[in-house]
Amino acid sequence: MLESDYRAMRLAMVETQLRKRATEDQQLLARMEVVPRHCFVPHAVRHQAYADHPLAIGDGQTISQPYMVALMTALLQLKPSDRVLEIGTGSGYHTAVLAGLCGHVVSIERHPRLSEQARACLTQLRITNATLHCADGSLGDPASAPFDAIVVAAGSPRVPPALSRQLTDGGRLVCPVGDRKQQELLCIQKKGDGFVTTSHTPCIFVPLVGKDGW
Ligand code: SAH
Repeated sequence: MLESDYRAMRLAMVETQLRKRATEDQQLLARMEVVPRHCFVPHAVRHQAYADHPLAIGDGQTISQPYMVALMTALLQLKPSDRVLEIGTGSGYHTAVLAGLCGHVVSIERHPRLSEQARACLTQLRITNATLHCADGSLGDPASAPFDAIVVAAGSPRVPPALSRQLTDGGRLVCPVGDRKQQELLCIQKKGDGFVTTSHTPCIFVPLVGKDGW
């Protein structure tokens, strides 16, 4: 398949799966029109890179459905100066989307192979404002905290307390919360000493494994 074929599929993805359905945020939609999602998936499934579902990326993990990436990112309400923490780098695709919309991304993945592959993809795309770590992301990154936005790409029994503690005042955290089979996508915003929680959509994510996860 040619790059121009992938580009046509990507523009169709934005029109049919994302615009109006997931978000009307023009900057986010423009970012998803340019990030080459096919570069982040295994060769064998590249032809499905722009389809409306998650795809296996090895180690029992998945690259999230484009709709879910758009929805989660829209909920973060990113500003160009924001510092963002992502838990569950996976393929690195969402990292690439985030990097174009904020100042800096720290992304944590527990599988070394996935983290290394994601790093290679981001380097190839000359994305320089993302730092990848291989560690238990359920504990966040206290050394770099606080963050203006935190996104968790794995399902958790509760919003990991270590993560909500790493938000700035006014900061937003998006996390799938529920049991191992199904979760609800929650967005919490830190307001002074408290949090305002909103619930968005039922969803199915791989489990957040770790000290503050399963
Ligand atoms: N946004 C990614 C989604 C990857 S799936 C993408 O679109 O490609 C979620 C990822 O979270 C998996 O790669 C899994 O290994 C990782 N994960 C699960 N628990 C984790 C933890 N405690 N710390 C870091 N990564 C974790």
